[in-house]
Amino acid sequence: MQIAMIAISATGSVNPERAGPGFQRPAFASRNQAIDSLPSLALLTLAGMTPDEHRCRYMEVRSDADFAALPQDVDLVCLSSYSAQIHLAYATARHYQQLGIPTVIGGPHASCLPEEAAAHCDAVAIGEGESCWRNILEDAAAGRLRKYYGSLDASFDMRNAVMPAYELLDHNNGYARITLETSRGCPHRCEFCASSVLLAQKYKQKPIDKVLAEVDRIKACWPRPFLELADDNTFVNRKYWMQLLPELKKRKVRWFAEADIRLGNDPELLELLAESGCKEVLIGFESPSPGHLDGLELRNDWKSKQTLDPRDAVTAIQQHGIMVVGCFVFGLDSQEPDIFDAVFEFVRDTHIYDVQLTLLTPFPGTPLYERLKREGRLLKENAWERCTLFDINFVPKNMNVETLLEGFAGLAVRVFDDDFTVARRRELRRQVVTFRRETRGVSPM
Ligand code: SF4
Repeated sequence: MQIAMIAISATGSVNPERAGPGFQRPAFASRNQAIDSLPSLALLTLAGMTPDEHRCRYMEVRSDADFAALPQDVDLVCLSSYSAQIHLAYATARHYQQLGIPTVIGGPHASCLPEEAAAHCDAVAIGEGESCWRNILEDAAAGRLRKYYGSLDASFDMRNAVMPAYELLDHNNGYARITLETSRGCPHRCEFCASSVLLAQKYKQKPIDKVLAEVDRIKACWPRPFLELADDNTFVNRKYWMQLLPELKKRKVRWFAEADIRLGNDPELLELLAESGCKEVLIGFESPSPGHLDGLELRNDWKSKQTLDPRDAVTAIQQHGIMVVGCFVFGLDSQEPDIFDAVFEFVRDTHIYDVQLTLLTPFPGTPLYERLKREGRLLKENAWERCTLFDINFVPKNMNVETLLEGFAGLAVRVFDDDFTVARRRELRRQVVTFRRETRGVSPM
């Protein structure tokens, strides 16, 4: 079969007219563009495990204007999409169904809402795609596709992970970063989290030799790659990383990962990370005050129990030359209108390299969506197009919708201001250089 692997791209497109002018500033745009240009690792992985008798092509769709360029000489279309663009994914499926070409869709959204997805596509892959992809291929080749494959209860063994088909990516496409996975899932369970925790019930790790083989393959395709680890919470298994980092160091790559606040308490790990080429970590602080985090993590209230001051964590990590992208969520039940000033002061005082400001978003399949629905606080049910992280779809508790939106937009103007960003990063550079001089007598930047 000829198979089109189609990623519906742009994860959280921001409409500046709705989100406000702060989101047009270069300081915001750079991280957003990096996210938007990430290739779909899920599709590349399925392509990598497709037997040689089939041929896969990889492409991206950003709007229905792209339909004209889509190939028609294919026998099967495999779609992957986030919630915010799910209607574009369904429109893509309809485009192919009119041509008589079967479509299959997977990913967290389709896995959480398989009946909705099945109304638009011929088949739905539920859960981790590797668990059912070969069955889908066999049935598609035999012309007997079923509606549903896989299950949220099935767990793929990462020891059987295949090499993603990185060679399918168009090298002229300007990918700022190439994605790679070392783990799946997260030991925590935040109420709003719509990441792979929805698909992977347990935290699991890819064997080190497989990760290194993928790094080597990426380096064979791109001489100076910037890797974005597509893990949700990368450094949970410290022993694993103490083994992997010296090997990564030999590969001379630059990379980004998502971590939790405990990283700030681990100078030995930070030292190895810096040496291995880790340039940036994203940490979900959510709110600068621990009191705002009560009840956010549903298993053990882990987030609110952390004793490390988030400010100290930022300083400890950045001193090692690893830039912190702090993620903050606005609209938590515990937050009041003073949250906007509190976050601004946090950014100003820590000289944090970058921030990701997002509105609390009820994604499908999350406990947050169910709770807000139960409490009658959803503005509109099934409004997946609002799952951009910059649109609102719920009634906040301690402020009204207008206050939340205005405060959010106003904070973005202040935080992403060009002069403020330049001054913050200049001071950050000075701190890093001073720290390196004091500890090693060398400058890393
Ligand atoms: S710590 Fe991060 S990845 Fe883990 S459940 Fe919470 S939001 Fe999701």
